[in-house]
This record gives sequence, structure tokens and C-alpha cells, in this order.
Amino acid sequence: MAVRDPVQAYVGLGANLGDPVATLRRALTDLQALPGLGLLRVSAWYGSAPVDATGPDYVNAVAEISTTLSAPALLAALLHQEQRAGRERPYPNAPRTLDLDLLLFGAGRICSAALTVPHPRMWARAFVLVPLAQLRPDLVPDACLAAVRSQVIWRVGPPGPTSMDVINTQAG
Ligand code: AMP
Repeated sequence: MAVRDPVQAYVGLGANLGDPVATLRRALTDLQALPGLGLLRVSAWYGSAPVDATGPDYVNAVAEISTTLSAPALLAALLHQEQRAGRERPYPNAPRTLDLDLLLFGAGRICSAALTVPHPRMWARAFVLVPLAQLRPDLVPDACLAAVRSQVIWRVGPPGPTSMDVINTQAG
């Protein structure tokens, strides 16, 4: 059986219902448990006001992963995790227990009915660009950060975790 070379990918995480930090921690643990997926680094936790929506503030982060899964298989795994976290879609941009977006998949560009990569709305969202820039400033042009400067985003609590080791330490 052919084995793929690992691809470095970036996943956006967000939640604004229930206990968002606990849900994001669980999602990271579950991601790391997937066969063919390794969690490399995680940004700090950020708080953000809903964009084009109402409801409680979000907690957001971006995870850097290495995976031998295909992009569609990775998306399927992310959607499965959202379902397990009780995600419902009663209307567009509804509050959510867990939102997982495939932001970047190596240098891949994908345009299919079910999947667009890079994520089509990531460049317009401070809650994606700021944590992504924390991990990979080279991937986020200054002009893109400047364009979302009016969106409110803040670090949640003390300086956030930057690696799984720190997350695991703090989870106790
Ligand atoms: P949402 O309601 O924002 O979580 O959108 C989820 C839907 O967007 C899924 O059914 C996917 O098929 C589709 N989608 C397209 N591109 C992406 C992407 N890069 N990451 C996550 N979902 C995507």
C-alpha cells in the first residue's frame, strides 16, 4: 500500500457554547489520537467577538499538524469531531460547541464541492490570522493583518500554551 509523505497543515479551532476551553483541549487530544496525524504546535488561546453573528464570545486557536491523511480524509475527521462535540447547524453562523476548519494543507490548493483550501474566509478573520501568525508569521502578510485590525481579539488569560506539553501540564 502506498504511504503518503507527511504534509504540514493548519487547523482552526473555535467554540462559543458550553465550556469552550475544555472543548478545544478535548478536540486537540482527539486530533492527536487520529492514526496518521501528529500535533506539532498549538497557538495561544484567543477570545474573539462573533463575526457576522450574535451570541457569546468565542475562544479560538490554531493547531499545526503533520499528517499522512489526504485533505478530504482530514476534513471528514474534523467534521466527525464537530459532531461528537454536539455541533448543530440550526442556521448560518449559529453559535457552536466546536468549529474545526482546515485552513492550509501544505501548499495545496483544493477547490471541490466539499472542500476549499486555503479556507476561503480565513484571510478576512482576525481570529484565524492572529493565532496563525503567532505560529507562522511568514504565512500571514502584514497587509492581511492590517485589514482585520478592526476585529476585536484578545489573549485569554495569561500567555497561552504554545505546545502540547504545556497544554497537558495546564490541563491537570
Ligand atoms: P461550517 O458550517 O462553517 O463549519 O462549514 C462546514 C462545511 O464547509 C463542511 O460541510 C465542508 O464541506 C465545508 N468546507 C469547505 N471548505 C472547508 C474547509 N477548508 N474547512 C472546513 N470546512 C470546509
